[in-house]
Amino acid sequence: MKFGTRAIHAGQEPDPTTGAVMTPIYQTSTYWQESPGKHKGYAYAYARGKNPTRSALEKCIASLENAKHGLCFSSGMGAIDAVAKLLRPGDEVITGNDLYGGTYRMFTKVFAQFGIKFHFIDLYDANNISNYINENTKLVWIETPTNPTMQIVDIAACAEITKKHNLTLAVDNTFASPYLQNPLDLGADIVMHSVTKYLGGHSDVVMGALCVNDDKIYEQLAFIHNSCGATPGPQDSFLVLRGLKTLHLRMKAHCENGEIIAKFLKNHPKIEKVYWPGFADSPNHDIAKKQMRGFGGMISIVLKDATLEDTFKFASSFKVFTLAESLGGVESLINHPATMTHASIPKEEREKAGVVDSLLRLSVGVEDIEDLLEDLKNVLA
Ligand SMILES: *Cc1c(COP(=O)(O)O)cnc(C)c1O
Repeated sequence: MKFGTRAIHAGQEPDPTTGAVMTPIYQTSTYWQESPGKHKGYAYAYARGKNPTRSALEKCIASLENAKHGLCFSSGMGAIDAVAKLLRPGDEVITGNDLYGGTYRMFTKVFAQFGIKFHFIDLYDANNISNYINENTKLVWIETPTNPTMQIVDIAACAEITKKHNLTLAVDNTFASPYLQNPLDLGADIVMHSVTKYLGGHSDVVMGALCVNDDKIYEQLAFIHNSCGATPGPQDSFLVLRGLKTLHLRMKAHCENGEIIAKFLKNHPKIEKVYWPGFADSPNHDIAKKQMRGFGGMISIVLKDATLEDTFKFASSFKVFTLAESLGGVESLINHPATMTHASIPKEEREKAGVVDSLLRLSVGVEDIEDLLEDLKNVLA
């Protein structure tokens, strides 16, 4: 079945006890056992391990990523944490130098102290990975498009290298969403989502997900999932099931609005630079065209000759765009990475990755484009 149909139906059947068409919110922490260990044919014992609302959601997200297995976590960071826990002291990880701030913080402040070594490298050319591989390398962790400078990493080229060296390739697919890109189809082993963003789509849930095809990796992750316990509740699972039903419609609108706004900003005299992977002259545009089905609604801009104070004033002057962290909701947001989402990255590291003080990130929502353009025109006037 095609994407939109799966977004609405995958993992969901009328409830076997009542016929409810929408998957009920199974608000229970535990399940009746007929005799100890015997569940009368139900596969459920305790809700950290499994809950029917969450199971439906996990099947739906897995289906959208063309994956055999899905696991939902209580946040995107919870999902990344589970992947990092596949590692042992002495293991090494190769990752990009333009990572989500929270991922950088977890790698450097939490997992480095357990003896895991991280290499933060330039992934413009995926072959650069080969320069950092040694006998301790276990995992390659990439994001594409990256946050916030929308750099494109060639997933298939990374997979070719990781397969050759028997490494695990994990892709944070939050920015593209499965509507635009399916990393497992390109050879990745694990795909991760901050479900909080496009999958949930309404800025009312914090959740994460992992999707895999390999049964062995799934068993390991499912063990960590249940053992460490970062599992989401049934109410949030229900909200995301509802959000997913319009993912394809929302993404189409995000892409359309994103393109119009990116092109408007690119020609504006007060804007120094626009980061959006859909421009023909944007770095690795040919790879973006090859591995993505559209370019999305995430755009970053650098204001021309703007001080930090000018940038703050600009970011606070919108009527429709809301100044807030996060992205991927139906409403348009504006964010100042240097002091908001990326504040945990040292200034020097940040600026090396292009996250200068005059950079702002837009999450273009699905409002009427005329209103979004007018908002931008007024602030830029
Ligand atoms: C938000 C985000 C995360 C973290 O997800 P949470 O749901 O906030 O824990 C990870 N990666 C990317 C690219 C993100 O945007």
